[in-house]
Amino acid sequence: MSRFWSDIVHRLTPYVPGEQPKLAHPVKLNTNENPYPPSPRVVDAIRRELGETADALRRYPDPSARELRETVAAHHGIRAEQIFVGNGSDEVLAHVFQALLKHAHPILFPDITYSFYPTYARLYEVEYRTVALDEAFAIHLDEYAAPNGGVLFPNPNAPTGRALPLADIERLLERNTESVVVVDEAYVDFGAGSAIGLIDRYPNLLVVQTVSKARSLAGMRVGFAFGNAALIEALNRVKDSFNSYPLDRLALAAATAAYKDDAWFRDSCDKVVASRERLSAELTALGFEVVPSAANFVFARHEGYDAATLATQLREKEIFVRHFKAPRIDQHLRISIGTDAECDALLNALRDILGGYVG
Ligand code: PMP
Repeated sequence: MSRFWSDIVHRLTPYVPGEQPKLAHPVKLNTNENPYPPSPRVVDAIRRELGETADALRRYPDPSARELRETVAAHHGIRAEQIFVGNGSDEVLAHVFQALLKHAHPILFPDITYSFYPTYARLYEVEYRTVALDEAFAIHLDEYAAPNGGVLFPNPNAPTGRALPLADIERLLERNTESVVVVDEAYVDFGAGSAIGLIDRYPNLLVVQTVSKARSLAGMRVGFAFGNAALIEALNRVKDSFNSYPLDRLALAAATAAYKDDAWFRDSCDKVVASRERLSAELTALGFEVVPSAANFVFARHEGYDAATLATQLREKEIFVRHFKAPRIDQHLRISIGTDAECDALLNALRDILGGYVG
C-alpha cells in the first residue's frame, strides 16, 4: 500500500497467471498451451520479417493490422471491417469491458468461469452479477434473461471445458437484443461450434478468439474480436486511445502465416483431441470424475483425494497442473492436454501417488 497509489489500485485484485516453472524439462500442463509447435510457415515468416539485419524493426508496425485482418477474414468468410485485433485475447477482453459493457445494469457471467472477468470488471468499474452453473457445471442461458448491461461466457467454458450448443447461444441472442453478448471462444477449435457465422444476423454479438491455443502462438500475444462494424469501431476507439501498436511486426507476421496453414492447425487440434479422449478415459479408470471436455484441458476431481495436495505432490515430480482455490471447484484440477508422452508421465505419477490411497 502506498499513499502514491490512485484510489482504484487499492481495490484491485489482479489476475494470477499459471506458473512458468524455471526447470529444464517440466511437464507443464497448467496454462493450456498447445504441446505442439506452430506451423513451420510461422518460423519462415518471422525469419523473413527479420531478414539479415532486422532492419524492418526500425519502423513501427501497421497500426491497423490490415494484412492479418484480411487473411483472417478470408479464413472465416467475413469482412476485415468485422475484425478487431489486440495483444492477446486478454487485451481484447479488457477493451470489450471498457468499450461495450459499462451500462446502467450489471453484466452477467457464470459463477465458475475465466477468472479474468471479475478482475477486468473491477479495473473498469463495471458492475457484474454471476449466474450459477448447474451441478454438472453446465451453463443454462435461459437464466440470463434478466435486464443486463451485457452477457459474457467462454464457449467451451473455462476451467470446466464444457461446451454449449450453438442453438442455445442463438436462442439467447433472439431474446437478449438490448445488450452485447460476448462469446469467448479461446478453446472453440477443440470441439465446440463457433458463433462467428452468426455475426451478420445479430448486431449485438461479439466473438473473441486467440492464436494462443489451437495455433500454438501463446508467446506471440495475438487475439481477435469478430462482430458488427459498430462494435468493432467501439473497440478501435478504445484501442486508439490506449496503444496505437498493440501488435509488433513479428506477431503480425507470425499470426498471418499461421492462418495460411490450415492443414497444420487441423492436424494439431486432432492430435490434442485424441489425447484428451485417451487421458479422460485413463483418469476415469484411476477413479477421477472427469467433466466432459470440448477444450484442450480436462477438469477432474478424485473422490477421496484432496486436489490441492495432489497438485503439490505432482509439482514435486515436476508436473504442473492448475488448482483454483475458489468456491465449488477447490476439489478439482485443471489439466492441460500435453503430448502423449506428457500425458503418460502425468498418469504414471498419479498411479504412484494414488497407489498409497485406499478409497
Ligand atoms: N479467454 C479464456 C477463457 C482463457 O482461458 C484465456 C487464456 N488464459 C484467454 C481468454 C486469454 O488468452 P490470450 O490472452 O492468450 O489470447
